[in-house]
Amino acid sequence: MSFESFQPPVRTLMGPGPSDIHPRVLAAMGRPTIGHLDPAFIRMMEETKAMLQYAFQTQNAFTLPISAPASAGMETCFVNLVEPGDKVIVCVNGVFGLRMKENVERSSGVPIVVETPWGEAVDPNQVEETFKKNPDAKMLAFVHAETSTGAESDARTLVSVAHKHDAVTIVDAVTSLGGSPLKVDEWQLDAVYSGSQKCLSCTPGLSPVTMSERAVEKIKRRKNKVPSWFLDLNLVMGYWGSGKRAYHHTAPINPLYGLHEALVMLQEEGLENSWARHRKHHLALRAGLDAMGLQFYVKEAHRLPQLNAIVIPNGVDDAELRSRLLNEYNLEIGAGLGALAGKIVRIGLMGYSANVKNVLYCLAALEEVLGEMRMPVDKGAAERAAHKVMS
Ligand SMILES: *Cc1c(COP(=O)(O)O)cnc(C)c1O
Repeated sequence: MSFESFQPPVRTLMGPGPSDIHPRVLAAMGRPTIGHLDPAFIRMMEETKAMLQYAFQTQNAFTLPISAPASAGMETCFVNLVEPGDKVIVCVNGVFGLRMKENVERSSGVPIVVETPWGEAVDPNQVEETFKKNPDAKMLAFVHAETSTGAESDARTLVSVAHKHDAVTIVDAVTSLGGSPLKVDEWQLDAVYSGSQKCLSCTPGLSPVTMSERAVEKIKRRKNKVPSWFLDLNLVMGYWGSGKRAYHHTAPINPLYGLHEALVMLQEEGLENSWARHRKHHLALRAGLDAMGLQFYVKEAHRLPQLNAIVIPNGVDDAELRSRLLNEYNLEIGAGLGALAGKIVRIGLMGYSANVKNVLYCLAALEEVLGEMRMPVDKGAAERAAHKVMS
């Protein structure tokens, strides 16, 4: 057998991540590999940490990218913070909340689930009630931006409820970082994890994590060892901390060049401008989808700009719609997950994908394909409506 080089097709990525990668990020990743303890590399690590503090809006010294996808950032928070027997209130309003519950269990904690219908924001009153019934709960875990449904929860209020009950918070900010307001210090979030491939325009495989003093203190007070060697933050910080570095693992050197470049670009654009860009393109996409008569799954007040969950119209086959967009238009959008499989599609406007070209291309492709799938569409109306918002 002989194989040839892999040549991926050129796609437009408008799903739930990865999003389109900025060419500057790909170029940075192709630069020469150097040793992971090379002083030049160490300077780049320090810069990356500082730029992550900016992206997270935090002064937390404990801010670094875990060398693995966002799921590893999630696991990092749970394995370090949850001690055997700890009660953790877990809010479940989609797929990623369910994974948090699984993480609590695997860390030998006891999950207390606050269930919210998928597509809705977590209700702080329900969380308050749950704390009252479980005064010994030590932590609250929730997803800020639920990518499986496109709903945003009010992180600031949820965390204030948890702190009133002296609980440490674990927040999934994988899809919010860089795409919509996330203010770690101002909102007093404790342990927060994210991913490189959503609104940062970078490739998948790295997971920025930040921890407040309160979270670090809880880890320091642990009575037994963190059950994961690779994700034990005491060891990871010996490598990523600012003192003398001890070898822990070999950092993914070139992917980190990519994250560094993505963060330089975020700084150049300005964090608030990046949030505004996601919002503006969401409004343009929304105008186009409205013109086509398509419905959003999430109520307007809780809609994420970077993840648009759209109800699949009656009589339209979900798999056929997505495969035609992919095969005929090289356009990737996301399927519904879990309970929403076959009911919604998810259109991502994340990072470099949140641009006018993608919005218009997606609307035009949807008009064509839905039209051919016998849904009555007024061709061109969606682009015109989007244009009106853009100008
Ligand atoms: C994508 C995503 C994750 C998981 O990220 P991976 O990089 O695939 O491990 C976790 N939480 C949320 C909310 C996400 O959107």
